[in-house]
Amino acid sequence: MIGLGKHLFALVIFSFALSAAPQGKTKNVFLITTDGLRWQEVFSGAEEQLMTKTNGGVLNTNALRRDFLRDTPEARRKALLPFFWSEISSKGQIFGNQQKGSVARVTNGRFFSYPGYSEFLTGVVDPNIKSNDKRPNPNTNVFEWLNLKPAYKGKVAAVVNWDVIPWILNAERSKLPVWSGFPLPKGAPERIKISPALDQLIQNTTPLWDMMMLDTFTHQAAMDYVKSAKPRALYIAYGETDEWAHESRYDLYLRSAYNVDRYIKSLWEMVQAMPEYRDQTTFIITTDHGRGVGKSAWKNHGAEIAEAEFIWLAVIGPDTAPLGERSQCGVVTQSQVAATIAALLGEDFCAAVPQAARPIADVLKKSK
Ligand SMILES: [Zn+2]
Repeated sequence: MIGLGKHLFALVIFSFALSAAPQGKTKNVFLITTDGLRWQEVFSGAEEQLMTKTNGGVLNTNALRRDFLRDTPEARRKALLPFFWSEISSKGQIFGNQQKGSVARVTNGRFFSYPGYSEFLTGVVDPNIKSNDKRPNPNTNVFEWLNLKPAYKGKVAAVVNWDVIPWILNAERSKLPVWSGFPLPKGAPERIKISPALDQLIQNTTPLWDMMMLDTFTHQAAMDYVKSAKPRALYIAYGETDEWAHESRYDLYLRSAYNVDRYIKSLWEMVQAMPEYRDQTTFIITTDHGRGVGKSAWKNHGAEIAEAEFIWLAVIGPDTAPLGERSQCGVVTQSQVAATIAALLGEDFCAAVPQAARPIADVLKKSK
């Protein structure tokens, strides 16, 4: 009997070790991305040689230099991303500063948007994803997978800029509720409702692009949705940073990055003031690809631009040790984001999708 008891005990321990990561304090996860923001700006702030009319299409160089140019990389990045370099750097972790021995990278080899969004949402690299065309993604994303679990059913959503993302999320199959300023795939659930005033404001605003809108609107839709629906897992996608870079407007690229930092700050402060979220919510913040380096290549990205492989990734929440800006640490990959989102919630995405990359252990509560 004693022997059998020991075996049973060992079995219990063994099966616990095999099950999902131990549940920490995180009950809610927000994934927040901004399209094509370089690691160079995240860690070193504005790049002086691009703050000109010739290289960066800057209209008012004096104003831009006043707002973002400082003497050191630390001061420049803090001017550009004050929330990152105060709250997140003191309470969370930021990966990707290659000058300090931390590398965050894309593994799909394509370095443009659809493959990148698919990589961090599904945890896998699909070699058949070769374009930004609106094709339904055959791969299961972590939000869709969470939404199938009773604990999360109806508490998972996405609020996104860029018109292709609902196809990357395969809203038709996944049935994830989505807000986008553009039409959704046929068969997707009805678009998340926003306030009539916001809808009116969007419709009354002159459109700048045909597949992206100002992040202002996406952000307001996200804030309103969090307040009213209180999702447990939410994906928010900002997009202006990539558009302004392609348009060769370094001034507006910087100003939209600055705004994303403010948006994240306002989301963080809002959730910390809500009992459903306070001290039990983790934010993961990253991007879909890097960009080129130099006077002209900064505008672009893609397989032909090797530097676009490199990205950055930040995490802040109650289960992530406050190691701040990471240095001399292991490589983290874009594909690890999906399983990390699940693991923060105590769920094991890799058990369901074995080919998905493993979670980033450094940002998870250490098991006892
Ligand atoms: Zn782009």
